[in-house]
Amino acid sequence: MEVLYAKCNKSCGYKFYVQYFKKERLNHTIEKNYFSCPNCGREYVCYYTDDNIRKLQGELRKLYLEMKNVNSFQFDKLKKIESTLKQSICNSMAEIKNMVESS
Ligand SMILES: [Zn+2]
Repeated sequence: MEVLYAKCNKSCGYKFYVQYFKKERLNHTIEKNYFSCPNCGREYVCYYTDDNIRKLQGELRKLYLEMKNVNSFQFDKLKKIESTLKQSICNSMAEIKNMVESS
């Protein structure tokens, strides 16, 4: 992933770079992806995934590999699949976030 420039805006105001997200299993399927402030330890959740989302993310990675080796007609087709996939990943992530944070 790309390096992220973050600010601890909920706590100490410390500015820092995030190179990777930490992962934590919440239960048998749901995984929390987050980073924490190196200064005060405050946690920032980026997103949650479950088996289904990780499967979709896997399909997306495969799609990106495929895109490198296709002509422009096929590329357009793959682009459409990509946006559908991204949309369902996005929807599912929002659903899980709601579920986790309201329980
Ligand atoms: Zn902090």
